[in-house]
Amino acid sequence: MRRSAVAAALVASVVAQTTITDDASVASSKSFDYIIAGGGLTGLTVANKLSAAGKTVLVVEAGPNSEDVTSVNVATARGGITAAECNWKYDALGDDGSALGWQIDSGRCLGGSSSINGMVWFHPTKPEMDALKNLGNKGWDWNSLYPYMKAVEHNHLPNDAQRADGANVDQGLHGYSGPVNVSFPDAMRIPDAQRLYKAAMPLVFEGLKLSDDLSDRDNSAMASTSWTIWNDESSGTDVVRRSSAAHAFLYAEDQQRSTLTVLYNHKVLSVTFDSKIKATGIQFGPSDGGSIMTASAKKEVLLASGSLQTPPILERSGVGDADILEQFGIDALVDLPAVGRNLQDQPGTGASALVNDANATNTELIDNINLFAPVISLVNMDELFGSNSSAKGAALTKSINAKAQAAVDAGTMVSKKSAQAVFGAQANLIVRNKMPIAEVVGESYPSVMTSVFWPLLPFSRGHVHIASSDPFASPAITPRLLSDDFDVSVAISVAKKAQSMFTTEPFAPVISTAYVDLPEGASDDDWEAWYKKTAYAASHWLGSSSMLPREYGGVVNNKLQVYGTKNLRVIDASILPMPITSHTMPAAYAIAQKAADIILGKDKSVN
Ligand SMILES: Cc1cc2nc3c(=O)[nH]c(=O)nc-3n(C[C@H](O)[C@H](O)[C@H](O)COP(=O)(O)OP(=O)(O)OC[C@H]3O[C@@H](n4cnc5c(N)ncnc54)[C@H](O)[C@@H]3O)c2cc1C
Repeated sequence: MRRSAVAAALVASVVAQTTITDDASVASSKSFDYIIAGGGLTGLTVANKLSAAGKTVLVVEAGPNSEDVTSVNVATARGGITAAECNWKYDALGDDGSALGWQIDSGRCLGGSSSINGMVWFHPTKPEMDALKNLGNKGWDWNSLYPYMKAVEHNHLPNDAQRADGANVDQGLHGYSGPVNVSFPDAMRIPDAQRLYKAAMPLVFEGLKLSDDLSDRDNSAMASTSWTIWNDESSGTDVVRRSSAAHAFLYAEDQQRSTLTVLYNHKVLSVTFDSKIKATGIQFGPSDGGSIMTASAKKEVLLASGSLQTPPILERSGVGDADILEQFGIDALVDLPAVGRNLQDQPGTGASALVNDANATNTELIDNINLFAPVISLVNMDELFGSNSSAKGAALTKSINAKAQAAVDAGTMVSKKSAQAVFGAQANLIVRNKMPIAEVVGESYPSVMTSVFWPLLPFSRGHVHIASSDPFASPAITPRLLSDDFDVSVAISVAKKAQSMFTTEPFAPVISTAYVDLPEGASDDDWEAWYKKTAYAASHWLGSSSMLPREYGGVVNNKLQVYGTKNLRVIDASILPMPITSHTMPAAYAIAQKAADIILGKDKSVN
C-alpha cells in the first residue's frame, strides 16, 4: 500500500531507501551483481527477492514512474491510462507487415502490465502446470509453482454483503500474507446482472456449473471475479486501488532496499557479451533515443521485458535466427531460431444486448464502473460443443501433425518436432483433461449487457522480431490470431452461444434487443469473418522465449538460461510455451519467485 509523504519521510530517516530515478548517472558505467531489463511484474518481483538477499541490482525500465498517476493507481480509473502514462500501444501487424488496424496494449511504466491490466485474479490448474514438466522442464510443475501463487497473495475475505451479492472464496486455496492484495470490490459490481449471467450460462453451455471460486476447479468453472485490488477507506471515499507489482514489491515501505537501483525512462537495447558469450552487462539509452551507455553485471543479466520485448533484446544482442539478424547487420553469436516464435495470445470479441427502458437506470444491472469482468465462465469442450464434443476431440488429436506443419510453414514454430510437442500437450489438456477452451465474461456498460469471450487454449501462433537496425525502434509483432481452424471453430461456437444467451428466459425481463451484427441464419463463414474483423488480443501474451529443451524449440532451459550463452536468463512470462486457462498474473508471479530462488541456488528441483 502507498506511503504517505510523512510516513515515507519517517521511514527514510531510519532505513535506506530503494533508489528510483530517471537520472542515468546511477547506472552509466556502473557495475551491479544483477541487471534486470524491464521493471514490470516479473522484473520487480525478482529485483525485490535478489536485493533482499543482499545482491546489488539494477532495474532498467523503458517507461515512466507512474506512482502518482490516478488512472494507474485507482482501479476504477483504468480506462483512462494513456500511452505516455503506461502503454506501449504497439501496432498489430499482418503477415505482409501492414498494420491490422488494432493496437496491442502492454504496460510501459514501473509495474509493467500489472500497472494497466484488468487485475482479474484466479489460478491456473494442476494439469497445465504439470504439462511444463512433461515437456522436458524438470522442476516445473504444480507442486513447485502453486506455493508461489499463494505466497504472493494477500486475500481479503469477502464480508456478508459481498457474499450476498455473489462473492465467495475457497479459503484453503489462497494466501493471506503476501504483498499483492486480492479482493472483491466493496460494493460488488452489478449483482443483478451477475445473477442473470449465472442463471443463463448453464442454459447455453450445458453442463457448466456455478463454482465457489474461479481458482477452485479441476477444469471448467463459473464464479464472481476477485481482482488484485484493495478497498482504501483511509480517506473516507472508498477508493478501489490497484495492487500492482510496483506497489507490492517496489513502493511499499517494508520493501525498501539500499541494494536496489531502479532507472526508469531508459530502454535496454542489447546485452553485451565477452568472447565466450558470457553476458557482461547491457547497452541502454533514454527511451526516446539519445546517447548509448553501458552498465556491467558482475553476476548475470536477467531479461524481464515481457513476451513482446524480450525477444527483440536477444536479437539485437546477436542471439536469434541468424537469417533475421543478418537482415539488420547483426552478427549471430548464437543461432537460436526459436527466439520470437511461438508467440501466442487469445483472440477476444463480444456480443451485446440493449437493456429495456424499465432497467435503464438500474445500477445493479448496468453500470459505468471500470472493473472488467465481474463474472467469468470457463467453458470446456463438452459444454461448448455438446454432442459433437467427442468427434471434435478426435479430429483435434488427428490434426496435430498438420497444425505443426502449418506453423512451421508460417514461420511461427521453429520445427515440426517442436510444434508437435507443444500442440500435442495442448490437445491432451483439451481432450483428456477437459480443460476449458473458452472464457466468457459477463459484463455491462451504460445501456447494454455485454458478453466478452475468447478461445482459451488457441493453437494459432505468431511471431515478434526486430524490424529495423535502429536499436530504439519498436519490434514487429505479428499475432496471427485465429490462423488455426480449431481456434476458429471454438470462436464461432462461443460467439453464437454467447449471443443466444441474451434471448434466454433469465434475460427476458431486462433485455429489449439482442444486437446481432449478422443477419438471421448467417453462415459459419459470416461468423468467422465477423469474429476476425472484430477480434483483438486478450493481452495474455506468452511463448516467445519458450522454456523447452533446445531440440524442441526452446530459447531457455529449465533454469531459464538462454541456450548458447552464460550468465543470461529470461525471467518473464515469455518462457511459458503454451497458453493457460487462467489470466496470466498468478503464473507470472510464480515464475518470477521461482526464478529468484533458482538464481540464488535455493531451488534444487531444477538440478
Ligand atoms: C491490458 C492488459 C490486461 C491484462 N489483464 C490481466 C488480468 O486481468 N489478469 C491477469 O492475471 N493478467 C492480465 N494481464 C497480463 C499480465 O499483466 C501479464 O501477463 C504480466 O504482467 C506479464 O509480466 P511480465 O513481467 O512478463 O511483463 P510486463 O509486466 O509487461 O513487464 C515488462 C516490462 O518491461 C518493460 N520493457 C519492455 N521493453 C523494455 C526495454 N527494451 N528496456 C527496458 N524495459 C523494457 C515494459 O515497459 C514493462 O514495464 C493483462 C495484460 C494487459 C497488457
